[in-house]
Amino acid sequence: MTTSHPRIPLAGVIGSPIAHSRSPALHGYWLRRYGIAGFYIPMDVAQADLRDVLHCLPKQGFVGLNVTIPHKETVLAIADVVTDRAALIGAANTLLFRKDGRIQADNTDGAGFVANLRQHAPHWQPASGPAAVLGAGGAARAVVAALIEVGVPEIRIANRTRPRAEALRNDFGAKVVVHDWVQASNMIEGAATVVNTTALGMTGKPDFRLPLDALSPAALVTDLVYTPLKTQFLIEAEARGCHVVDGLGMLLHQAAPGFERWFGHRPEVDEATRRAVLGA
Ligand code: NAP
Repeated sequence: MTTSHPRIPLAGVIGSPIAHSRSPALHGYWLRRYGIAGFYIPMDVAQADLRDVLHCLPKQGFVGLNVTIPHKETVLAIADVVTDRAALIGAANTLLFRKDGRIQADNTDGAGFVANLRQHAPHWQPASGPAAVLGAGGAARAVVAALIEVGVPEIRIANRTRPRAEALRNDFGAKVVVHDWVQASNMIEGAATVVNTTALGMTGKPDFRLPLDALSPAALVTDLVYTPLKTQFLIEAEARGCHVVDGLGMLLHQAAPGFERWFGHRPEVDEATRRAVLGA
């Protein structure tokens, strides 16, 4: 005779490498805080094993996963259901292993980006003027999708490798205007929102040295990089009187919908959550 025991829900993050990820500290904190019996596990998965791993984990009690570099695009081809926003962005960061056996892929990066700005700059009015987006990688795609959704009238974009910015223009339409990377300091003139989505400024990378003479002190300036928390780019923008928002809140907010779907509780994104992740 077999007895059925309630299964402890398991979730995790897959990528390669994965040791640097803050997600296990974040989800582990929320699990403890809300007294939820569950586990969140970092897993280094090679590209060649991705399909097998995704089909095996639900059988072991996994209810979903976060996905990070280099699997964010590849998982779309393996998922059975892709949300509209993940399809538009061309990448997924959150997977749900549904009870009907299907794998659903979603992207919560854009929603996390906006939620972070709404929380830390409540006065922010995205429709009040153009946005300037520096960089055109995977994260920039989520940012551009989100900025369009909240009503930004024009999105100026510059990237070191110009064809990547042009691809964004092709995918997201006429609101996106491509500028030369060497002209990036000019395109911030008159911008209401300025976003660094490049990896520049991250610990171990060169600082993002953009002349900010044209920056209006009324602009909201944010950086997706969160190590260090206050990048040189944000320090310089703040010195010019701008309201600045660091990238850690985006990481926290993009994680909340996945946690809620997997573990059944909408987690709080607050100061205690920030401290728990920073202290990890
Ligand atoms: P990605 O797809 O690899 O894109 C990297 C971007 O950085 C590209 O625009 C790239 O330009 C640019 N870049 C890299 N090195 C550069 C250099 N030396 N000079 C000029 N541009 C350079 O990475 P991603 O996923 O978009 O992530 C970008 C950054 O956002 C990373 O720092 C990541 O940690 C951060 N991020 C944060 C969050 C959050 O929750 N806060 C979420 C996602 C990502 P090229 O196209 O010319 O190479």
